[in-house]
Amino acid sequence: MSGRQDRVAGTPTSVVGVPAPALPAPRAELRRPSEADWRAVLDAIGAASSVDLVAHVMPDGDALGSALAVGLALRQRGVEVRVSFGDDPQVVPASLSFLPGQELIVPAADVPERPELMISFDVSDARRLGLLLDKARAARELVVVDHHTSNAGFGTRSLIDPLAPATAVLVDELLRRLGVPLDEPIATCLYAGVASDTGSFRYSATTPATHEFASRLLAAGVRHDTISRQLWDTQSFGFLKVLAAALERAELEPAAAGGRGLVWTWVPWADLLAHGVPPEQIEGLIDVVRKAAEAEVALVLKEDPDGSLRGSSRAKGAVDVAAACGALGGGGHAYAAGFTSHLGVPATVAAFRGALAALVVPPDL
Ligand code: 5GP
Ligand code: MN
Repeated sequence: MSGRQDRVAGTPTSVVGVPAPALPAPRAELRRPSEADWRAVLDAIGAASSVDLVAHVMPDGDALGSALAVGLALRQRGVEVRVSFGDDPQVVPASLSFLPGQELIVPAADVPERPELMISFDVSDARRLGLLLDKARAARELVVVDHHTSNAGFGTRSLIDPLAPATAVLVDELLRRLGVPLDEPIATCLYAGVASDTGSFRYSATTPATHEFASRLLAAGVRHDTISRQLWDTQSFGFLKVLAAALERAELEPAAAGGRGLVWTWVPWADLLAHGVPPEQIEGLIDVVRKAAEAEVALVLKEDPDGSLRGSSRAKGAVDVAAACGALGGGGHAYAAGFTSHLGVPATVAAFRGALAALVVPPDL
């Protein structure tokens, strides 16, 4: 039996002693935006009379907050703006319904077939555009504003900064360069973005500059207490029932991820139906599951009505879940990533387990 199989088969102590691999540095080809990149994007915006601002499917606070902040700013400047995302049905999560500028949101069908200028926010790869993919491809200009390391850049112009803790941080810089002041509605959208992606300033990407940004947002009148309650501390009673069932179903696999441990569970569509919980309301369930101290990696599989599974995974620093999810056709960040699977629960978990094993133990050991 090779060393690799030993470790996968469960001699975790022999692996726990191995120093945790450092998280990968942002890929060399993913340089941060240059002055020329910023100028090119400002030129594209300056030349456009109509702009479509789009978030990824099932948008979170960073994706929708960033799109709405730019929408509010460009509307002030007299530009025709639409904000959209490519879900059908298109539902703004209840936790984001407080974001100013909701009146700018239109269904994907109302985005022009050939947009003059489309700007995507927090969209790590083109498939995350969902129903808007073809319209994005047909756009005269497609600007990609994002902070995912895995983003290879799928537009005509890009502002991709893998070191930014949130897309909202790039939007702050964009608005500064456009000369748009941070008023309270715009600041509220940006606060939702940066607070979402830093886990309320807890995650490692948070820097002094992130806090300085938050300070400017609070000075602009943001009600951080109200926003936090709506983003994280408000759920329906039905959600509690779905959560309870998911936790009951949770499994701990100490030998997975080279002995660092995997905790996983899944949510059948039938549970959501039974408790009247819309799918976008269980996005935060992973944040409960990942608390398990015994597991480096957490995984939640969320079933859609067609039986496909949306996977959400999290790691604590020793394993790159973007790479593991990449092996299943998804992507994201080293600490937080996702994928969609059509394999059913047992085979999907097996594939994920296999991807983790391949990552943690080099094949030549
Ligand atoms: P979540 O688990 O919260 O849905 O997503 C975690 C991170 O992974 C987010 O940054 C999200 O954009 C990214 N992500 C989630 N699902 C996918 C996917 O299917 N493909 C890619 N490329 N990224 C994903
Ligand atoms: Mn983000």
